Amino acid sequence: MSQLKGKVALVTGSTSGIGLGVAKTLAAQGASIMLNGFGEAAVIDGIKTEIADEYKVPVSFNGADLSKPEQIKNLVEATVKELGSVDIIVNNAGFQHVDLVEDFPPEKWDAMVSVMLTAPFHIVRHAMPTMKKNNWGRIINIASAHGKVASAKKSCYVACKHGMLGFSKSVALETAETGITSNCICPGWVLTPLVQNQIDANAKNKGISVKQAEVELLSEKQPSKQFVTPEQIGGLAVFLCSDAAAQITGTEVSIDGGWTAQ
Ligand code: NAD
Repeated sequence: MSQLKGKVALVTGSTSGIGLGVAKTLAAQGASIMLNGFGEAAVIDGIKTEIADEYKVPVSFNGADLSKPEQIKNLVEATVKELGSVDIIVNNAGFQHVDLVEDFPPEKWDAMVSVMLTAPFHIVRHAMPTMKKNNWGRIINIASAHGKVASAKKSCYVACKHGMLGFSKSVALETAETGITSNCICPGWVLTPLVQNQIDANAKNKGISVKQAEVELLSEKQPSKQFVTPEQIGGLAVFLCSDAAAQITGTEVSIDGGWTAQ
């Protein structure tokens, strides 16, 4: 299990949910890991130690707030300084806000765009010189089924995720003659804190149990009626890093239990 030995992966938003699952799956293949995200210091220390001990790879953490461009520059520089390179980028950090467009707080819109769309731009632009020098790189953008189709009350999230697909394609064209690829992964529902918050809010609003709200959420969109797991998304990321995927660039891969087939 050392397909990625010697490669350095920067995974944003990897203190929780999908990012954490992807970081562990890349580490399991031998990649050195730069963790990023919010959380309690003791919990983050625990994650660092767990990954380093279990997979015997170097692990660093940088708590850059991705809404702050100068902290993003520092995150990419710290990755190269502490781990020796930046070969794999997983643009994953994100969050949700649900509101009708006329009620959508403008400051929430700006905050979402800065973390989910502008931060990936800064990360890629800072990492690109290293990737071009190495003539190898994997840019993996965690978009969403909402990068391909919409839902009501999620105007900003849907705009960011559609935007991420466009950004990713443009970077793919710019790097098409190099060993760098740029792609999106489009997950359906994954049971992480981001989705649990929506399930809890639906349960409260409708006066139903959390379990019932979970079943309703899956039934509405995801034909498999099962959650995608962070580990399955990690497995797809590992595939996109492989030689078999060297000609896969400028596209998106859905992992959504059939959501966008409808
Ligand atoms: P999560 O809430 O479990 O994790 C989000 C991560 O992003 C956390 O580590 C958090 O600390 C980090 N983060 C948020 N704001 C940040 C900031 N300003 N700076 C640095 N880090 C920040 O959520 P998740 O469900 O694992 O979502 C991860 C990504 O996957 C998001 O981009 C989300 O849109 C996408 N996604 C999630 C689902 C799902 O069903 N959970 C489906 C499709 C796509």
